[in-house]
Amino acid sequence: MLDATIARMKALIVANWKMNPSSLKEAKKLFEATKKAATVAKGVSVIVAPPSIFLRDISAPTRGGKVGLAAQNVHYEAGGAFTGEISVPQVRDAKAAYVIVGHAERRATGETNDDTRRKVAAVLAVKMKPILCIGEKTRGSTSAEHLLFVREQLLVGLADVPLAKLSKLIIAYEPVWAIGAPKPMQPRDMHEMSIYIKKVLVEKFGETGMNATILYGGAVDATNAAHMLREGDVKGFLVGRASVDAQGFTELLRAAAAA
Ligand code: PEP
Repeated sequence: MLDATIARMKALIVANWKMNPSSLKEAKKLFEATKKAATVAKGVSVIVAPPSIFLRDISAPTRGGKVGLAAQNVHYEAGGAFTGEISVPQVRDAKAAYVIVGHAERRATGETNDDTRRKVAAVLAVKMKPILCIGEKTRGSTSAEHLLFVREQLLVGLADVPLAKLSKLIIAYEPVWAIGAPKPMQPRDMHEMSIYIKKVLVEKFGETGMNATILYGGAVDATNAAHMLREGDVKGFLVGRASVDAQGFTELLRAAAAA
């Protein structure tokens, strides 16, 4: 699924379940509802990132289907004395094809740009696809500080990515102040940020940087998804809260398909 077809699809939506739900039974139920919604949302592709403990159980009936699977985090080492961590080979063995790297909630616990660099490289090395999350914590009304912050996240996080692997990469711009907030950022502001991200990518990778897959994350739901897709210059979304509400997520996918 995906990759070469990303350019052709209407939207790509990553459902980050975070530390939800609380049982495998509920996870399977939510996944079934998600799959059903994805099947009817024409042109929309979905990647579900469940808690890693549910990955294997969920992956079994998924193969060949329309929904991809992601881990929410990995360690950059392939194995060893790292209590509580999971490795890229373990995630691949559980049949996930994607890994979220550098989510704001991981960065808040101390993950650095250099950690994201090593994780992105480890994921690409086994032909899986990283979803690199970037985004400033705060934004002043005039200063360009947030741009420099994002630039650093991109340039360090992608330092080891060769041009040939750029098409395997997904960038999720998630301003930290919009995650868990009542409303997303304005689509026109996202559009500006998208242009900026592409500018940085073109600096690093040349013109191919213009084709990078950029998602937006932060308070996306069925009421605002279509507007953001039409005017935000993004390929889709990374969704937190709305992804664990089966009905809300179904409506979100429907809105994206109709945008
Ligand atoms: C997130 O945590 O990445 C996120 C976008 O959350 P929410 O959709 O709940 O704002």
